[in-house]
Amino acid sequence: MPAQGAKLTLSTLRLEEEALLKRYGLPKDYLQPAYSCPLCQDTGYVGNPIKKKCACRLKLEQQDRVEAGRINERETFEHFREDIYPDEASLKEGKTISILCQRYADALPSPKYPQLFLFGEAGRGKSFMGNAIAARAIEHGIDTLRLTAYRMTEEIMEGFSTNSSPLLRFSRVPLLVLDDLGTEAIIPNVTKEYLFAIVDQRNTSRLATVYISNLDDKELTKRYGERIASRITDASITKSIRFKGESLRGVKEKNR
Ligand SMILES: [Zn+2]
Repeated sequence: MPAQGAKLTLSTLRLEEEALLKRYGLPKDYLQPAYSCPLCQDTGYVGNPIKKKCACRLKLEQQDRVEAGRINERETFEHFREDIYPDEASLKEGKTISILCQRYADALPSPKYPQLFLFGEAGRGKSFMGNAIAARAIEHGIDTLRLTAYRMTEEIMEGFSTNSSPLLRFSRVPLLVLDDLGTEAIIPNVTKEYLFAIVDQRNTSRLATVYISNLDDKELTKRYGERIASRITDASITKSIRFKGESLRGVKEKNR
């Protein structure tokens, strides 16, 4: 068909379509695709000639990272609550720690001391800080993984049966937040061997890592041995922060 003819046919069809829509009382754009994001028409990009990611795409990416990083969005520095501290001394400590952790998070991916060792008794807010650091890192677009030592061991075991070792991811992710270190089962020939491989790789590469444990350095040595414990608490690259305050759990329950 000659080009001229095609053009004519198309405009005739458009007029016909318009007339039909009008006849049935439908709007002119009735047959146009409906976009869930009118800004970018669902392409994910805006701007001409320089293309930028659209807000809808950035939001989706953020959601993906929150899921992949296993972040609790309610436990962030912005949600730090002074009223859950049972006394002045604990509150003062909580604030100081929060500031230190925020500084660390804002300096990621390369803080001066790439490792944090957060330790102290249960219920002092250690996990909250670990989560808040991870959430801030994700906000800044840093690839982050947060999980418990228990879950890490489980995933390593699962990797054996599916032939997909998660070891590389644990060893190389730019920020790893490893929570509850010391509560997982020690599986012979697995837990310590893998933990050493991960800890050693991250220590050597100075990769940002937050270790969270109810155990102090001596107890850590007793449980995992010197070569693991010394890398986690390595003073040349680690800031160790002890949570000494009173438990926050009682107050949290009361305010629920
Ligand atoms: Zn969009």
